Amino acid sequence: MSSSKKLDIYFGITTYQTLGDCVKELIVASYSIYLNLLSKVNNHPITIVCGGQSPSYYCLAMMNFKIFNPKLVNIIILPHSKGGVKSDDQNNENILYCERLKEKGIILNDNVVIIDGVHSGTGILALESALKYCFPSINVYKIAINSQEDIAKITVDEEIVLPSEPKFSDTFPRLVTSFHPRDFNDSSKFITEFINLENNPVAKMIIDIAKKYPKIPVEETDWYIDNNEVTDEIKREREKERIRIEKISELKHISKLKRISEDQLKKKGGTFKTIILNDPKRYQCPKCKTITGELAPLYPKDTTLFSHNFDCQNRFKIPIEY
Ligand SMILES: [Zn+2]
Repeated sequence: MSSSKKLDIYFGITTYQTLGDCVKELIVASYSIYLNLLSKVNNHPITIVCGGQSPSYYCLAMMNFKIFNPKLVNIIILPHSKGGVKSDDQNNENILYCERLKEKGIILNDNVVIIDGVHSGTGILALESALKYCFPSINVYKIAINSQEDIAKITVDEEIVLPSEPKFSDTFPRLVTSFHPRDFNDSSKFITEFINLENNPVAKMIIDIAKKYPKIPVEETDWYIDNNEVTDEIKREREKERIRIEKISELKHISKLKRISEDQLKKKGGTFKTIILNDPKRYQCPKCKTITGELAPLYPKDTTLFSHNFDCQNRFKIPIEY
């Protein structure tokens, strides 16, 4: 007798991904992140800091893989909520946060990897600052898990794009409590473990699949099969997604062609006979009629001072007066 494992859970906005797709994406990505870190250990164990709700489901998956080996790469859950708000007194926040860390007896390996959703970057930078304040000898490597490219407004060491990320950070039940700077002096609110695991069906699904992964591929589990109903709405979203990806690759192709032809033009170089305008002295292209500023006649070899139409034959050529 097999009982259905279809989850009855709020799924938020329908995208092109089923619940099964979302969990599969999470499992595959978490496994690859963890495996990659294991390969970097080289006698120096690593601590993954799971900064708040956003990365928590990924960390949950990692902790349930057979390859999870906390002696080499351990995971510490550290709630730290900034909500994109910059602090007026980072130092004071660091002092209080450090008190909470010491009080809980938290110890980090010298190599720390912070995993978090990164938008403005305020949250991950504040957490990094607090950890470095408390443990001055650590090296911090930042991994952003975001739903799209180019969301992160700061430079991180690694950005992983997972379209299902908002489901795990915002839609599904919280795994980690919030901990805001205004509460940093309140020990009782600093909870460094997962909450409500027993009442969380998504967590149950992830734990179950992670325990057998990769021996049993996600799509072969009942969990996946029972939560992979492709509705008409999902079909429509998949078509939209297909068109979006097609457009992106087309744009990338066009900009690549453009770059190639610009490089060829630049290599070709050469000169052209320019029209001279006076009072003040400026140049005008005889082909595309673009008029320069006053600097171009002074520095004719600097072709960036002479902007032409994008398809003008005289682009990147040096203007010559006759
Ligand atoms: Zn021109």
